[in-house]
Amino acid sequence: MKVPFVDLQAQYKTIKPRVDQAISEVLAAAAFIGGDAVADFEAEFAGLTGTGYAVGCANGTDALEIALEALGVGPGDEVLVPAYTWVSTASAVVRVGAMPVFVDVHADYYTLDPDLLSQAVTASTKAIIPVHFYGLPADMPAIMALAKKYKLKVIEDCAQAHGAMIGRQPVATFGDLATFSFYPGKNLGAYGDGGAIVTNDRALADKCRVIARLGQQGKHNHVQVGRNSRLDALQAAVLRAKLPMLEEWTARRRWVARQYAMQFADLKIKTQRIPADFKHVYHLYVVQVDKRDGLRKYLQEKGIQTQIHYPKPLNQLGVFADKRPQKVADAMADRLLSLPMYPEMTREQVDYVAAMVKKFIVYGG
Ligand SMILES: *Cc1c(COP(=O)(O)O)cnc(C)c1O
Repeated sequence: MKVPFVDLQAQYKTIKPRVDQAISEVLAAAAFIGGDAVADFEAEFAGLTGTGYAVGCANGTDALEIALEALGVGPGDEVLVPAYTWVSTASAVVRVGAMPVFVDVHADYYTLDPDLLSQAVTASTKAIIPVHFYGLPADMPAIMALAKKYKLKVIEDCAQAHGAMIGRQPVATFGDLATFSFYPGKNLGAYGDGGAIVTNDRALADKCRVIARLGQQGKHNHVQVGRNSRLDALQAAVLRAKLPMLEEWTARRRWVARQYAMQFADLKIKTQRIPADFKHVYHLYVVQVDKRDGLRKYLQEKGIQTQIHYPKPLNQLGVFADKRPQKVADAMADRLLSLPMYPEMTREQVDYVAAMVKKFIVYGG
């Protein structure tokens, strides 16, 4: 049996009429930039995230840069970022001229460890970017309490966590601003690049829009020097067509995760722990094992695709100034393996992956 890591073709088959229709409407109107598709998507996405305003932009990395700029983060400022995340969370900080300071992740949750935050705060600290890593919300109540105490801004990096919640409160509604990516493989993915910034603060939303639209407040009224970062109409139309499916897709991801968890319960496999009341949306299902590379090779031979998120923590990448060792992140990086996870996985596929993992862990293959 073959099990890909994700299967975007399988997903397209389930929504083809809707998506094709949405795309042909954009083609017929020949409104490729801006227009109704983008405005409608922004309104619907704000609604879905429980925020007042959404500003579409070109990708999730731009979203982070624009959010940082809107908050006035720049040269001389430090921003606290988890040591273990996708590179964009930290590179965005460098791109606005500030310095990312890495804070280790929690050994069980893999998200920013709130207990380590206060010791990382200096007179130059301006903001925190918690990441809802793999789809699990970071400990926002603790992070917001600390942000309040030290008067820090908070940008939630929600690129992996569309629809995740703590209790009844969705991610993206805790911080000052939140950013999303619609990279095709994300839980809500475009058919190309896309991103968004969301917030409940109207003034901040306006700032983001001005920055992303070449500094314009309305056409040709340039109030500052901005940049060009747009969500295009084709992507917005695809995203609108997919939006109604997100809840069902998330439920399927959670079902796949439950099957894995049940089958791995008695094995020497560590999985991400989930605090009570936190809703994980399983962008990724990641196991921690002793012989990671051996397991990866074995699964590959059995037709099962896996990936590593990520091979190195940011402090080890060599491109950031903060190269201090990070106890948890450094120890975890060689042990993590992401198993196939997507809504269209069949029971047979999930059972097959679980059986092969089990076989390797118990019998060494
Ligand atoms: C995917 C991702 C981004 C960047 O999104 P792009 O759309 O690829 O630029 C940022 N942060 C995290 C945590 C991500 O997973």
